[in-house]
Order: sequence, then structure tokens, then C-alpha cells
Amino acid sequence: MNILRQIIFSLKNRDRQRSRVYSAEHYAEKASPRYTHFAPMKSGKTTVKSLIAKSTGDARINATISFRKSDTLQSWASCGVINLCIRNGMLSDYEVLHELAHLLQGEGGADHGKEFASIFLLLVKQGLPQECYDALLTGYKIHRVKYEIMKEGEL
Ligand SMILES: [Zn+2]
Repeated sequence: MNILRQIIFSLKNRDRQRSRVYSAEHYAEKASPRYTHFAPMKSGKTTVKSLIAKSTGDARINATISFRKSDTLQSWASCGVINLCIRNGMLSDYEVLHELAHLLQGEGGADHGKEFASIFLLLVKQGLPQECYDALLTGYKIHRVKYEIMKEGEL
């Protein structure tokens, strides 16, 4: 590939919406702080599993959950594993559902495009109280995140 083609390729494929989604998520966390809670290592797994079950409705999700304490790493998901990083003993419900949305996005689902944002919003709607959904939706609008409203059970 020559340089120009490489530049065009990377412009087309970069993760344009990433920082907007992060900003919207931080807005929602501040707007509904009760859902940024303590997740002690032992009870955390049960809490996270029931959140995943609730947010995905009838969809069968085969995800392995791994916790680690880290003040520097970010949570990530790949190959059926959700790796959650606990900072200062805290874990946000939004962060769990964010990583779950990456898993549900399917192959190559590492970006934060329209498909990702739509799945994430639906998971929050199904898994968390209405105020969390409202907060994330407002965050999307403030930060101009592209999304579609998915129907419940559409996962
Ligand atoms: Zn992400």
C-alpha cells in the first residue's frame, strides 16, 4: 500500500465516535452516581452476572468475567471474556454494560460506532433503572453520539 492509500484506509477505519461515547458515559455516571458502586472481589462476580442476565433479556450470553484491581488499566472485552478493572474498589454498572456491548457487537467489534452505541443503550435500558437510560440518552444527545433505538429483545 502506498502512503496515500494507507492514510485513506486509516481515516475510513478509525474509531470516530470513541471519545464521544466515553464523554456520554461519564455524563451518565455523574447524573446517576448510585450506579457507580463498590464491587468487592467476592460478591462482585454475582452482581455482574445478574446485571448481564437482566440487561440481555432472553439472549444467551456465554461470557467469562475476570476481575483485576488496577488504577491504570481500562476494562476491555475480547474472545468471550469481559475483563473488568476495579479502580479504588469501584466499578460502574455502565462500564460492565459497555464491555458487554463490545462482546455482543460480534466479530471485529472493537469500535464505538452506531451499532455499538445502539447496543449499549439497549443494555442500559433493560439492565438498569429508567434514570440511567435517560442519563445515557441525554449524554448521547449532548455529545452528538450516533445511535438507533433498538427494540427490546432485538439482541
Ligand atoms: Zn469500548
